[in-house]
Amino acid sequence: MLKDLDRPDFFGNPSSGHSEGRAARAALEEARLICTEALGADEGTIYFTSGATEANAIILFSMLYGHAAGVKQGLITTAVEHPSITKNCAPLEHMGIPVHYVDVDRFGGAVPDALEKALHKHTDATMLALMYVNNETGAISDLPSLIKTARQRDGKPLHIHSDMVQALGKIPFALRDMDIDSAAFSAHKIGGPRGIGILYLRKPVQTLYRGGGQEGGMRPGTENTPGACHFAKAIRLRTEAQTKSLQEAAANMAYLIEALREMKRCTIIPECRQAVDERYSPYILQAAFRDVPGEIMVRALDDLGFAVSTGSACSTGSKKRPVLNAIGISDALAFTAVRISFGWTTKLDDINALVDAVRRILSKF
Ligand code: PLP
Repeated sequence: MLKDLDRPDFFGNPSSGHSEGRAARAALEEARLICTEALGADEGTIYFTSGATEANAIILFSMLYGHAAGVKQGLITTAVEHPSITKNCAPLEHMGIPVHYVDVDRFGGAVPDALEKALHKHTDATMLALMYVNNETGAISDLPSLIKTARQRDGKPLHIHSDMVQALGKIPFALRDMDIDSAAFSAHKIGGPRGIGILYLRKPVQTLYRGGGQEGGMRPGTENTPGACHFAKAIRLRTEAQTKSLQEAAANMAYLIEALREMKRCTIIPECRQAVDERYSPYILQAAFRDVPGEIMVRALDDLGFAVSTGSACSTGSKKRPVLNAIGISDALAFTAVRISFGWTTKLDDINALVDAVRRILSKF
């Protein structure tokens, strides 16, 4: 990214007709094409946004358009979604759109029977929002079968949206093989820059806000050409290497889980997670350490050079762990839980060093 900073095609406004603008437009469209291919999407379905939060918000609030026109709307979702979905449910309800929550099981995914019931009970629901990979527990939802269930509902057409941030570059998929209407992605989870994301839209929707009509009107505002080009670079690198990285991460995660299970004071969350377990992303682990509050563990590990967190960075400051509660974890256990995540450069040596660090911290508490 640093090497690219003085690229001449990064300076023009892609919507301007002069040569600098045309160069920027060419760079932006090339980035879009690379992202379209890497996501396995069809041409004309990729819109750049400022991140996944904005992509999620654009789609959720698009319901208000129909609502204002008198067409009944409703959202079905789960309590384990990222805050950029769950926190937008209150304003939606405030504006008159009912939100219904489908139960999740102890593995962390939506329960298919519960989804079926919710779909039949709330026949006015027009949107279903289900994340693919959970950012706190790593749970991979059985999206294909949940989508199949949802599509079998008679009546109102259902818009199916998925927050796929934690799947990108980690769990292989092709959007054109998934029967979804929209999805959200973020560059900074795959080594790209912060402040750029993607909204995938199988077909354009009526969005709530207007501007200069950029991004087909789906996300007006001057485009972030450098961000899009660097997202494209990251998406290509990460998706090309994802199968090999996934195998490495799975071996590393199995090793970490086994090492942590040997510590009497450690609880893997959820406890049913196995060392080798395809229901979870091998890049994310939630674990609790008895008698050590999660925030203390985060700070103690930070002092030893490890960056872990409690919950998602987007809910820093909140002591609540709604995602853990939703999968049946008590407040007391959740209080001592931390999220450990791997990058594609994480090696076995890093994991051994982490395990040693945790042992040292536990010996002091
Ligand atoms: N959704 C999930 C699952 C995430 O993990 C994140 C990032 O933390 C987001 C959405 C928000 O993405 P962004 O930071 O690009 O707005």
